[in-house]
Amino acid sequence: MSKLNGKIAVVTGGNSGIGYASAKEFKSQGATVVITGRDSEKVAKASQELGVKGIVADVKSLSAIDDLVAQVKSDFGKVDVLFVNAGIFQPAPVGQISEEMFDHQMSINFKGAFFTTEKFLPILNDGASVINLSSVNAYTGMPNTAVYAASKAALNAYTRTAATELAPRKIRINSVNPGPVSTPIYGKTGMEEEQLNGFAEAMQNRIPLKRFGQPEDIAKLVSFLASDDASFITGSEYNIDGGIIINPLLS
Ligand code: NAD
Repeated sequence: MSKLNGKIAVVTGGNSGIGYASAKEFKSQGATVVITGRDSEKVAKASQELGVKGIVADVKSLSAIDDLVAQVKSDFGKVDVLFVNAGIFQPAPVGQISEEMFDHQMSINFKGAFFTTEKFLPILNDGASVINLSSVNAYTGMPNTAVYAASKAALNAYTRTAATELAPRKIRINSVNPGPVSTPIYGKTGMEEEQLNGFAEAMQNRIPLKRFGQPEDIAKLVSFLASDDASFITGSEYNIDGGIIINPLLS
C-alpha cells in the first residue's frame, strides 16, 4: 500500500510516541517525511532511525515555527500533510494551577498548535490535509486535567472553524482525540512511579477494551486522514480510545 506516495508530510513532535509511529507509518505509505521536536539529540536520533529529515523547533516560540516553515520551504517547497502532534500533559488540581503552569501548557498545546497551522498555510498545497492531535480529555472532565482539557477543546474549536475557511483551497483539517496511549508522555508529568502505575491501572479498568492504545493504533487513523481516501472528510473529530468516552462509569 502506498496511499501517501509523492506527498510531503511534516510531523511536529515526531521524535517520540504517537508522532514517531505516525512518521514511520507515513513513510511506509510512500510519503517524504520531516519530523520536528524541541530536543536536538532526540530529533537527531529519531530522524536517523526513521531515515527522515529532522528539524529542531520549539513550538512555544513563534519565531522557531517561522524558521521551521522557512527550512521546509527551502528543502521541499510545499507540504501535503501537516500532522500537528507536539504536546505535553501536565496534570494539576483546580485551585492549584499557577499562571506559569497555565501559560506553559496552553502555549504548547493550543497556541503552538494553532500557529503551526497558521504559519504553514502559505506553503500548504491546495488539497493538503492537516491533522490536529487533540484528546478525549477535551470532553471528559477527568480530574486534574483542567488546563490540558481546555487546550485540546480550544484546538478542536480551531479545527472546526478553520475547516470551513480553508475549504475553498480544498485543504482538509480534522482532529484526532485519543484516549490513553502508551507513550513517554506520562513519564514527563512529574508523577512518582507508584502514582503513575496506580493511574495507569485505574485508567485501564475504565477502558471497555481493557488496554491502553498503542502509538501505532493512532498512526493508522492519522495516516487515513492524511490520505486521499479521506478526501470528503473535514472539520471532523475522531475518538480513538478503546471506548473510554462512552463508559458511563467515567468521572
Ligand atoms: P510524547 O511525550 O511521546 O511525545 C510528545 C512530542 O511532542 C515529543 O516529540 C516532544 O518533543 C514534542 N513536544 C513537546 N513539547 C514541544 C515543544 N514545545 N515544541 C516542539 N515539540 C514539543 O507523547 P505522546 O503521547 O506521543 O503525545 C503526542 C500528542 O498526543 C500530544 O499532543 C498529546 O497531548 C496527545 N495525546 C496523548 C495521549 C496519550 O495518552 N499518550 C492521549 C491523548 C492525546
